[in-house]
Amino acid sequence: MPSFAADVKNELAHKLDKKICCQTAELAALLRMGASITLGTNLMLGLSFVTENAAVARKTLTLLKSAGDVQTEVTVSRSQRLKKNNRYSLRVVPSPNVRPLMEQLGMLGDTEGSMGRDKALLKKQCCRRAYLRGAFMGGGSINRPEAECHLEMITDNYGFADTIVGVLRRMGFPAGFTDRKNHYLIYIKDGEAIMDFLSIIGATKSLDEFESGRNLKEVRNQVNRLVNCETANLQKTVDAAHYQNACIKLLKDSGALNNLSAALNKTAICRQENPDATLAELAEILLVSKSCVNHRLRKLVSLAEELKEKQKETGEPIEKIH
Ligand SMILES: [Zn+2]
Repeated sequence: MPSFAADVKNELAHKLDKKICCQTAELAALLRMGASITLGTNLMLGLSFVTENAAVARKTLTLLKSAGDVQTEVTVSRSQRLKKNNRYSLRVVPSPNVRPLMEQLGMLGDTEGSMGRDKALLKKQCCRRAYLRGAFMGGGSINRPEAECHLEMITDNYGFADTIVGVLRRMGFPAGFTDRKNHYLIYIKDGEAIMDFLSIIGATKSLDEFESGRNLKEVRNQVNRLVNCETANLQKTVDAAHYQNACIKLLKDSGALNNLSAALNKTAICRQENPDATLAELAEILLVSKSCVNHRLRKLVSLAEELKEKQKETGEPIEKIH
């Protein structure tokens, strides 16, 4: 079963911004997530980019083609890792056209930590969205809607991670930032914020899926809460009935039961004959209201408790107390 993250990337791979400014921003972010510069003959520059996601490979190729007059090559190989995913190696063949493209994408001239060029790519709102889309495609993952809410992007480039967090926070996202063994991790753990993120990067189908998955989870939780609550109530009813029966037995053994009003007497007997019945069931048998039964049982319990107290004070056996 493909992961939800793969679904999201697949959806995004089929979206192409019409505006060149946004295409450039998205490609810059995608390449920041793992492209490396290669050198050809005559020190001509090329690019190499590896991904295990077919959708990401396709999108990167499309954007590269659209960005400049460059020649690309793709090779597919089996990953050496256990899951045996395909590995897509994209290569931009070294040529004189690659340098201007890389300059445009902010990949030249800057040290790794300084993202000056990327900031220039991010002046417009439309481009910031496209940039986040590229970052998510290149290094993002997201839990299934039924699981704990978690979306993250991982990169080994500090400047890039810092830029992503900056963009997210300026847009009002509660984005967290942490480092993990040579990697920088940007994450969002709030369900509403994750939905906003999917919306602004244009993953509308995935957003719907996420939302209905979350609703389903919410309903399931509610049902569980109700069941737990009913179980607790049932336990309370059973405990109460057990205590009432013990009290009635005490009153009966001491002979006190016979001295009570006919109504209390009848209720006590009815409770003893139906030790597991609910208040509603007792009310039906006695042909009185539920609150009336409740009141009478309370009275019986309090009489028994008084009796117990007296018994403790005098130390007399139960039989002699009337
Ligand atoms: Zn734009």
